[in-house]
Amino acid sequence: MPEHWTRNTLEITAYCKKCEAMTQHRVDDGRRGPCLPCIAKLEEKIKVKRIREGLKKEQCEEREKQNPKLF
Ligand SMILES: [Zn+2]
Repeated sequence: MPEHWTRNTLEITAYCKKCEAMTQHRVDDGRRGPCLPCIAKLEEKIKVKRIREGLKKEQCEEREKQNPKLF
């Protein structure tokens, strides 16, 4: 294995195909993990999705409270 890092290494610089650039990558158990900018993007997407879903749910609950007999 030409690529290996100690367990103490948490981040390495490697080429990311998605970013098409050298980026910081997380190291999982001495192996190259996901690229940090990609994780950040993914987390941002998940956060936005959760906020949207949360808002929808809140709006529905609010509507139910206002018109409980409609349901
Ligand atoms: Zn990336």
